Amino acid sequence: MIYADNAATTKIDERVLSEMIPFLTEQYANASQPYFFASLPKQALKEARETIAQCIGALEEEIFFTCGGTESDNWALKGFSSLYNNKNRVITTQIEHHAVLNTAAALERAGVKADYMPVSREGLALPETMAEFLNGREGKEMPCLVSVMTANNEIGTIMPIGELSRLAHERGAYFHTDGVQALGHIAIDVNELGVDMLSASAHKFNGPKGIGFLYIRKGVEIAPYADGGSQEASLRAGTENVASIVGMAAALKLNCAEIESNSVKLLKMEDIIIGKLTAEGLDFIRNGAGEHIPGNISLSFNNMEGEAILHRLDLMGICVSTGSACDSVNTQVSHVLKAIRTPEGYAKGTVRISLGKNNTPAQAERIADSLIKIVKTPRE
Ligand code: PLP
Repeated sequence: MIYADNAATTKIDERVLSEMIPFLTEQYANASQPYFFASLPKQALKEARETIAQCIGALEEEIFFTCGGTESDNWALKGFSSLYNNKNRVITTQIEHHAVLNTAAALERAGVKADYMPVSREGLALPETMAEFLNGREGKEMPCLVSVMTANNEIGTIMPIGELSRLAHERGAYFHTDGVQALGHIAIDVNELGVDMLSASAHKFNGPKGIGFLYIRKGVEIAPYADGGSQEASLRAGTENVASIVGMAAALKLNCAEIESNSVKLLKMEDIIIGKLTAEGLDFIRNGAGEHIPGNISLSFNNMEGEAILHRLDLMGICVSTGSACDSVNTQVSHVLKAIRTPEGYAKGTVRISLGKNNTPAQAERIADSLIKIVKTPRE
């Protein structure tokens, strides 16, 4: 089996798993308890928070554990809006993950004004577009949160977050970024990016599933996500998932240390795939070309069905994703491909190959050869 769907989830690193095991077995104490038996989990929690903070240039007290990217995104947007009784404004892009888009839609139903910025054909949220939105039809006085993803999950494009956050701050707005696809894959420093909040999820960087965090810059106010105990400074109550938190920190540290070597390897594998497809003269577009997450390759083949390609690759033992979803009648092109205006004849034939650190050049060759076979014999 060749797993090439690392933007969906990644395999846990063995080194990460071995750091987690003691906290799933002998060291099971509740980290909030005062007795000696809880001291190791408590210390592990503290060290994990420090490690994560160091990896992104944050302070320990700016890291809040959550159960993943979806929760972090929900908290950032809803927590900000509830401070203003939903009489505020959110500006986001048309290509966010549904964890942001559906949260913005839920906020709209509760009275928040939400705007969805268009993006360029490369999939970039442009500062000039954001400036127009910030000039605002609703008046500058309205408290405003801008939420733009660091990198897109379907096409991998990396957004100019530093520029966008500077602009937002100049206009008195706060800035959140969904960093789920970027963290552990490109270098992230919250101060360089200038963001007020950043969402992350461990299973996207070879850590365990069901754990993530929200970075909240010191001084930024946000309503609690969950009321209850005093965990996470009383902002996100609930007994801490120590094993997963330890795993997340270990995974982030390992991946951050290996970013450069992994990127070189991944870009070489990208070249193998694109080189082979091009040499065969296949009619395809690469979506979101330009600065992108290494290994994320979104390809749209003319006159093909993405679902059909996915299923034939599956039969050949290769896992990828599509950029479309079929219902019984129509193929629905994803909101991202619509927003970047991929021509329809191509958009329906989209597959996302997302390579990860465990893939090999030989696997990249096999993926390319299999795609060539499928595209050249569409009805086989
Ligand atoms: N944001 C982005 C950009 C994602 O790609 C994903 C997952 O695919 C999420 C948020 C949701 O993260 P999680 O699966 O941890 O809830």
